[in-house]
Amino acid sequence: MLDSLKNEILRLRDERDALILAHNYQLGEVQDIADFTGDSLELSFKAANCEKSLIVFCGVTFMAETAAILAPGKTVLLPVLEAGCPMADMADAPRLRKMKSEHPGALVVTYVNSSADVKAESDICVTSANALKIVSSLPSDKEIIFVPDKNLGAYCAKMTGRKMILWPGFCPTHMRITPEHILKRKSEYPGAKVVVHPESPLDVIALADEALSTGGMLKYARNSPAKRIIVATEIGLIYRLEKENPDKQFIPVSEQAICPDMKMTRLEDVLAALKNMKHVVKIPEKIANLAKIPIERMMAESRKA
Ligand code: SF4
Repeated sequence: MLDSLKNEILRLRDERDALILAHNYQLGEVQDIADFTGDSLELSFKAANCEKSLIVFCGVTFMAETAAILAPGKTVLLPVLEAGCPMADMADAPRLRKMKSEHPGALVVTYVNSSADVKAESDICVTSANALKIVSSLPSDKEIIFVPDKNLGAYCAKMTGRKMILWPGFCPTHMRITPEHILKRKSEYPGAKVVVHPESPLDVIALADEALSTGGMLKYARNSPAKRIIVATEIGLIYRLEKENPDKQFIPVSEQAICPDMKMTRLEDVLAALKNMKHVVKIPEKIANLAKIPIERMMAESRKA
């Protein structure tokens, strides 16, 4: 049954000339069927360089929007329309315009976990993989408005020494991770290394060996001699960590670190998307053109050594 479902998806993928992309937090079965699985930055590059005519994006709305902005000649499908991001929904363009008017001259640095409307009001985007590098590269005499993740913004401010005006948004999944979770796991697994996603609060990050994006965590797991790693991010990443490193043990910091939106997409939805060409991501051309500027600035900065 599972095999016939997978075979049908692959058949339709080829027939439709499609590329299937999946975020690292997607269900294991979806990651397995994808042509490429990665973090937001890696997926942005894949979308921008896609040679197929169709992209099926297994993730949440802002990711599929970013793919559509970066690949304007392609059709981008989001298999489950309701798969959104509560953090992205915490910021909106009218309130950002008001904040900008209160801080004239400030640069707007926007986490890619945001709507196209918010990106369109921004100077440059960041992901958790490149936020420190990009914030460090900005002119030091400029104030920075950081949108929408107050935790990633606070981490950047702490690490770079830059003054930041933080938008009060957060990821509910990473906010559920507490210092107590880390301390409990550390006592259960003495000697284990701890990796934390910088969407977590600062008091959680302070207890980690490394603060890393999901792509960074995968690299760390490959290269570290550590045999046991406590992982403080959405638990979907554990699937890929275990698959790529069968000789190592990965301990989820909390079973509560689940993003319901990231778990909405099932194989049946991927198949239905390909069959019915649903749901096509559409962004007004004016917004897409404006939103593309800060995303492309980010990608150009990321390419620099
Ligand atoms: S894990 Fe957090 S930031 Fe990522 S999609 Fe879910 S709510 Fe949004």
